[in-house]
Amino acid sequence: MNLSFSKEFSYCIFGINFSAQVSEIDSILAQDKFSKEDIVLLLSTNVEDRNKLYSKAAEIKEKYLGKKVHFRGLIEMSNLCHKNCFYCGIRAENTKIKRYNLSDDEVLEAVMFAWENRYGSIVIQTGEVNTKSFANRVENLLDKINKATNSELGITLSLGEQTEETYQRWFNKRATRYLLRIESSNQDLYYKLHPNDKNHDFGARIDCLKSLRKVGYQVGTGVMIGLPFQTLEHLAEDLLWMQEFDVDMVGMGPYVEHPDTPLFEHKNLLIPQEERFNLALKMTAILRILMKDINIAAPTALQAIDPLGREKAIKCGANIIMPNITPGYYRNEYKLYDNKPCLDDAAEDCKKCLEARIHLTGYEIGYGEHGNSQHFASRNNKNKN
Ligand code: SAM
Ligand code: SF4
Repeated sequence: MNLSFSKEFSYCIFGINFSAQVSEIDSILAQDKFSKEDIVLLLSTNVEDRNKLYSKAAEIKEKYLGKKVHFRGLIEMSNLCHKNCFYCGIRAENTKIKRYNLSDDEVLEAVMFAWENRYGSIVIQTGEVNTKSFANRVENLLDKINKATNSELGITLSLGEQTEETYQRWFNKRATRYLLRIESSNQDLYYKLHPNDKNHDFGARIDCLKSLRKVGYQVGTGVMIGLPFQTLEHLAEDLLWMQEFDVDMVGMGPYVEHPDTPLFEHKNLLIPQEERFNLALKMTAILRILMKDINIAAPTALQAIDPLGREKAIKCGANIIMPNITPGYYRNEYKLYDNKPCLDDAAEDCKKCLEARIHLTGYEIGYGEHGNSQHFASRNNKNKN
């Protein structure tokens, strides 16, 4: 399907008629606002037009955020999870994986690596556990992290749905950013991806995002791209939903199937991985045009499909990279999907490899900086004035 249209424009100067071919994509890219239909069209672009989309996104990123890319050292602290999302390899009912839970000392070792190598920030991610002892553990761990690093590291948490009180307790310990993907903003699709029960309630997820905003976090969300049952209209709605929610950060990437999950049954509905990858890049570029100063992460799932995936995302709008600094021997057990990259690399190898790759893209790494969301800062300043 070729969705590249063109419009004939006529204009008259000194009585002479001129006409010019302007492609539909050019005229959409020149607009300030996009409708759902515009976004669907941008998501359907062919190779030539998608390069225009990527260039526009890169131009906007440079104008608003400059040439810097910021690191977040990713620590996959535990794969224990009480939920059963249909797509995820570490879901509770997957008995084929070995469960692990890093000790505080192991987490601190990774934290020290990030600090000593001037990563600026870390992300702590786990499966979802919402017991009191988990909340206490994270609170105490945050104290230890702050003490060991003179409170210099930026801290992002991605620990799933929790009570507002728990979010507040962690925020009080200098965790200022939180990632909680909505997965899909379409409720019907959401329930095709999750069991329809109290533990996987769409409304509760939205409420968590609202609590995070209320507590004062920089709020990050995101979706998976190329899911079974998902249409371009769903993806366009996702982007408009993120704009409407006024998110501060986004991490979205291709869905990558895992054979030991219920969603694998629908693999016959999937578009090829390469197309999911291209859709993810287009989503990144469109979001950058829609939300010029937010932080957008280049997710690892891109690299599972294309070894240069994250660098390509940087070139079309992403500005955050999350090098994995989890001790190598645990990474194999935090397998959300097949083909997870860098399973055997030590954190030091990951750093060197990424550094070289980012330099090749023409961008520079903001070493030692938090790289907070500028969008968050401007909204807060506006509210103060
Ligand atoms: N448990 C927390 C949560 O769900 O918010 C945080 C960790 S969870 C593993 C992080 C993200 O991994 C999810 O939000 C989901 O989008 C992504 N994910 C899980 N399975 C995936 C898959 N098969 N392909 C791509 N992304 C996946
Ligand atoms: Fe658990 Fe998060 Fe995976 Fe869902 S996506 S099963 S909550 S780790």
